Amino acid sequence: MCQHQPPCPSADSADREAAHPVAHHPEQGWSLLCNGVLLFDDTGELLPDGKIVAPHRPSGTRHVTTAA
Ligand SMILES: [Zn+2]
Repeated sequence: MCQHQPPCPSADSADREAAHPVAHHPEQGWSLLCNGVLLFDDTGELLPDGKIVAPHRPSGTRHVTTAA
């Protein structure tokens, strides 16, 4: 799937997020990486095999909605 040289990390690699985005939809809050990973703005991921990775970015950089 990835055409880059050197090849980007594969979807099952620990640094899969370092792959190049091939589609970016900030208004929808996700990017598709060239290794097939769907990366969400909250750092959650959807892998090509359907596996879900929970958001893992340290708190402080994303908007948190507080229940009033
Ligand atoms: Zn690539």
